[in-house]
Amino acid sequence: MRLTPEITSWIEELVIQYSMQLSIRKPKYLLKVRDVLALPLEITRGRRTSAYRYQGVTYLKHWIVFINVRRSRTLYELKQTVVHELVHLRFPYLSHGDGFRKKVEAVMLGRSFRAYRRRVP
Ligand SMILES: [Zn+2]
Repeated sequence: MRLTPEITSWIEELVIQYSMQLSIRKPKYLLKVRDVLALPLEITRGRRTSAYRYQGVTYLKHWIVFINVRRSRTLYELKQTVVHELVHLRFPYLSHGDGFRKKVEAVMLGRSFRAYRRRVP
């Protein structure tokens, strides 16, 4: 998809809405590969020149997500990518798999989650 002003403001709404649903601080988000390449190397190391290949990338430590609008074919896919990346921020201990996929589905269906609290031993 092409990044239009309409898509840009739609994504802003999605990020706000789903950040609230996931009880996370709204991340900084980038919508163009060019913006990823403009980030300091220490942030993007390992996921920099490859970013264009993915629908999205989360830079967890820096609370930045990249939403690759060009890689999405439909609005639904784009929305799914936004949720996917935000789920990474809320559930940093989950890697891709069934558990992760279920969280994405739950969020898409409107489920809210409390803030993540790291367990202290
Ligand atoms: Zn992922």
